[in-house]
Amino acid sequence: MTEFGLDDLPIRDDLRGSSPYGAPQLDVQVALNTNENPYPPSDRLAEALAREVSAVATGLNRYPDRDATRLRAALAGYLGHGLDADQVWAANGSNEVLQQILQVFGGPGRTAMGFEPSYSMHPIITRATNTAWLSEPRAADFSIGVAAATRAIAEHQPDIVFLTSPNNPTGTALPLEVIESVLRVAPGVVVVDEAYAEFRREGTPSALTLLADHPRLIVSRTMSKAFAMAGARLGYLAAHPAVVQALQLVRLPYHLSAVSQAVATTALDFADELLGAVKRLREERDSVVEWLRAHGFSVADSDANFVLFGEFADRSAAWRAMLDRGVLIREVGPPGWLRVTIGTPEEMTAFREALLQVAPGHLSA
Ligand SMILES: *Cc1c(COP(=O)(O)O)cnc(C)c1O
Repeated sequence: MTEFGLDDLPIRDDLRGSSPYGAPQLDVQVALNTNENPYPPSDRLAEALAREVSAVATGLNRYPDRDATRLRAALAGYLGHGLDADQVWAANGSNEVLQQILQVFGGPGRTAMGFEPSYSMHPIITRATNTAWLSEPRAADFSIGVAAATRAIAEHQPDIVFLTSPNNPTGTALPLEVIESVLRVAPGVVVVDEAYAEFRREGTPSALTLLADHPRLIVSRTMSKAFAMAGARLGYLAAHPAVVQALQLVRLPYHLSAVSQAVATTALDFADELLGAVKRLREERDSVVEWLRAHGFSVADSDANFVLFGEFADRSAAWRAMLDRGVLIREVGPPGWLRVTIGTPEEMTAFREALLQVAPGHLSA
């Protein structure tokens, strides 16, 4: 084969030199790096999934329901807040939902703004849709200040504003006042990415409560985290029915397979069981936070299924030393910090033991 590579292809100029997104998918004993839910579907759920997929199998010669009507009704029922199916939209992971939002409201000549550190896919999807990315900093405690945010929005007039709450990778949830202030000044749509909503602590509100009064608000969710369905690829959003109609202008026909629709609808029937595991993860998270603080680490308050902690003089070396002990965590966020996903009690014990060995040589003074 002659030498021929990516650089020889006539790809878009703006894609040259970029690399594909992806956390390392390493084969390790304790994988606490991508915020997955450590609890696999129960036998009962797995059996129900097999039954439903088998029922769908005999109809796979036909295209699926283009509008995923039954699933969207089930999602609306799960979300509550008086939402109807026409206010809910679903796609293959919330990343696809976000991409569809960018396709409708972004594009050449348009801008999207985010408050970083935050979810790295927001700028990637933004740029992939030829939208310009505007990055504003979060405060030192990873919160978003109302004054700074509204000033930046008033100055740059972004077509899309991303607010991640609880935020990845910091775990920080936003008070509703911040979201409402942003909605007041933003000229375009405001996307609140609530991928971790189910993990938030008691008393932390969801932006769903603001939907009734704000037709340009979009709240995105996913079944990848709380519902332990990362492998099924099912994300969704709640918004005004007009927003859902707008998304249908860009979605590919039959984008959501009959199998995906059946799997997601079935998983929603098991919401109570799945949310029971979420409760256990929240308790485990709170105890990890407490343990880290008791051992002298800086820890960001977390309303998610992960914890950002530090600060390391050389976090890459610390990350590597953890991996050498069979514990894969994530090198992400501000310099000096590392992120650990909450796993099973056994996995968190392995994490604590490895960290006790690694930390002394690596914590910054
Ligand atoms: C994990 C995550 C998602 C979920 O992506 P899916 O495509 O639904 O798996 C979305 N937003 C944030 C902030 C996340 O961390």
